[in-house]
Amino acid sequence: MKLILIGIQGSGKSTQGSLLSKKLGAPFLSTGNIFREISKEKNQVGRYIKEIVNKGLLVPDEKVVEIVNLYLSRPEYKKGYILDGFPRTMKQVKIFKDNVDKVIYLKINEKETWRRLINRNDRTRNDETLPVMKKRINLFYKFTEKVIDHYKSINKLIIVDGTKKIEEVNKEILGNI
Ligand code: AMP
Repeated sequence: MKLILIGIQGSGKSTQGSLLSKKLGAPFLSTGNIFREISKEKNQVGRYIKEIVNKGLLVPDEKVVEIVNLYLSRPEYKKGYILDGFPRTMKQVKIFKDNVDKVIYLKINEKETWRRLINRNDRTRNDETLPVMKKRINLFYKFTEKVIDHYKSINKLIIVDGTKKIEEVNKEILGNI
C-alpha cells in the first residue's frame, strides 16, 4: 500500500509513520529526514540544503521530486511505502502524478501545534527556533492545505483526529486504510 501522511508540524506524522511502517511492513520515507541528513554533508549541495532547511524554507519542487523518485525506484519500495512530508506543494503533486493509494491527514489545530512544539524538550535543531517554526507553519497553510484539498477532491483523503492518544490515532488509521 502506498500511503502519504500529511499534517502540520507537531501533528505526529513521524510517530505514526514509524508505527505504521512496523505494522504494515512497508518502508517509511521522510523528506525532512533526508534533507536534514543532506544538510550535514560538507559539500556544495549540503551547504545549499542546510541554508534552506535552517531558514524554514522549502527545497525547490523539482529537486524534491527527483530525490523522492530516486528513493522510490529502489527495490524495497516496489510493494509500497509510507511518505512523510511529501508532497507538500501542488507542483510536487503534479510532478509526482498521484502515485499514492491513500492520504492520511493528521488534523490538529494551530493552538495544539504550538502547545506540542513548545513542550518538546528535544528542541536542539536549528529549524525549530520560534521564528523558523512560524515560517514553516505559515508554509503549511500557504501550500499544503491545497494539497489536502486536492486529495479530498479525488477521494483519497482520510482525515484523522491527531489530538487523540498515539495508540488511538494509530487504530483509527489502520481501521480506515
Ligand atoms: P519537515 O521536518 O518535514 O518539516 O522537513 C524539514 C525541512 O526539510 C523543511 O522545512 C524543508 O526545508 C525541507 N523539506 C522537507 N520536505 C519537503 C518538501 N516536500 N518540499 C520542500 N521542502 C521540504
